[in-house]
Amino acid sequence: VKKNPAEPEFHQAVKEVLESLRTVVEANEEKFRRDALLERLVEPERQFKFRVPWVDDNGQVHVNTGYRVQFNSAIGPYKGGLRLHPSVNLGIIKFLGFEQIFKNSLTGLPIGGGKGGSDFDPKGKSDREIMAFCQSFMTELCKYIGADTDVPAGDIGTGAREIGYMFGQYKRIRGLFEGVLTGKGLSYGGSLARTEATGYGLLYLTQEMLKLNGIDIAGKTVAVSGSGNVAIYAIEKAQQLGAKVVTASDSNGWVYDPEGIDVAALKEIKEVKRERLTSYKNYRPNSEYHEGRGVWTVKVDIALPCATQNELHLEDARALAANGCIAVAEGANMPTTMEATEYLQQNGVLFAPGKAANAGGVATSALEMSQNSERLSWSFEEVDAKLKGIMVNICHNMADAAEKYGCKGNYVAGANIAGFEKVVEAMTAQGIV
Ligand code: NDP
Repeated sequence: VKKNPAEPEFHQAVKEVLESLRTVVEANEEKFRRDALLERLVEPERQFKFRVPWVDDNGQVHVNTGYRVQFNSAIGPYKGGLRLHPSVNLGIIKFLGFEQIFKNSLTGLPIGGGKGGSDFDPKGKSDREIMAFCQSFMTELCKYIGADTDVPAGDIGTGAREIGYMFGQYKRIRGLFEGVLTGKGLSYGGSLARTEATGYGLLYLTQEMLKLNGIDIAGKTVAVSGSGNVAIYAIEKAQQLGAKVVTASDSNGWVYDPEGIDVAALKEIKEVKRERLTSYKNYRPNSEYHEGRGVWTVKVDIALPCATQNELHLEDARALAANGCIAVAEGANMPTTMEATEYLQQNGVLFAPGKAANAGGVATSALEMSQNSERLSWSFEEVDAKLKGIMVNICHNMADAAEKYGCKGNYVAGANIAGFEKVVEAMTAQGIV
């Protein structure tokens, strides 16, 4: 805290991970102390902060701050998304980059941890303004990334359109057509199923976690928060698996649709028209729209927070448990506060942490990198089958690690330990760097 003041989200992420690693570290205390393994783990290898000037449609110049944190490359090139949201600061990017190390390790694929973004707000901007920002951002970022060094992807506010503008600018400056970004459009090196991957992966893992506990997902009622990339495809896959999703939200309010969210309508509103959720009622007159928060007050069997960090608080956890919720799986990164997580775990609610549950996005990004390297494209079914295999594997690895270290059923500890072991082994093998 003294070394990195004013970075509360980063402190929160580090605290959660280190606390769950206590037993592993204690078993090898001398080695960890001598090699300063934890100290090296929490210090990014490198971080960039830069000016991003751009011109709006009225000729006015704006200045945003860009970031890229290259956290850990022990097991592969840095990999992690770019977040465009006014709340972005160094602490947020560091928390996301730190989480990414363990998530990427859990996928079993050779990718290190990194994250980046800017405090730019894409809401309400014209296409030309988005392009101006993305080009300026990439003009600086292109000095630090590359297909074999650091491969950014999308995150909040960065979708296919933004990745396209950034890829074009990278190619123009560096003269390289290479897999430097993932989440690309299908016509220039993107992977089928990448758009769906995080949401679908979340459901594959949730289904497997329930199965391990003797529960069938079919017929269950589900609350989802958010209405972006992760939320939309989580809702779609939940419905394909026979569950009924009754909520979605954005930063202004939330909808309750007792007959089940209409995914086609949601895609039209969010992906095509880029409107607010208030429009949902035009498609589904029997649904309700409420201002503010409230998704977690609905009586459901399963809760899937898919919006942003710290969106599920202690009072929400209490409401979910009181309503008989059996499982929470995090589609977003760190959406559940530490107190809420502990409350859910203590009250018998199965809890899958984001670094395991939402790893399907980055796993499929790594599959996109493989396709780019071999200059081939795989079919949707091939990528989806690999994604499912990876998520089922992650679920078993986190469950087994929890059991091995005496905390059976504690998937937070299990995911942290399973991700950590591989990174530490690689760091140790590579010497003091
Ligand atoms: P999108 O930008 O597509 O959607 C984000 C959604 O969350 C929107 O509905 C947005 O509402 C809402 N939201 C964002 N910030 C806030 C806030 N401060 N308060 C309330 N609601 C908010 O992002 P993604 O779906 O891609 O990402 C969602 C989460 O999933 C993030 O935590 C991200 O890091 C994580 N994630 C994403 C992956 C991916 O592949 N996309 C992979 C792994 C994790 P509004 O439109 O009003 O802003």
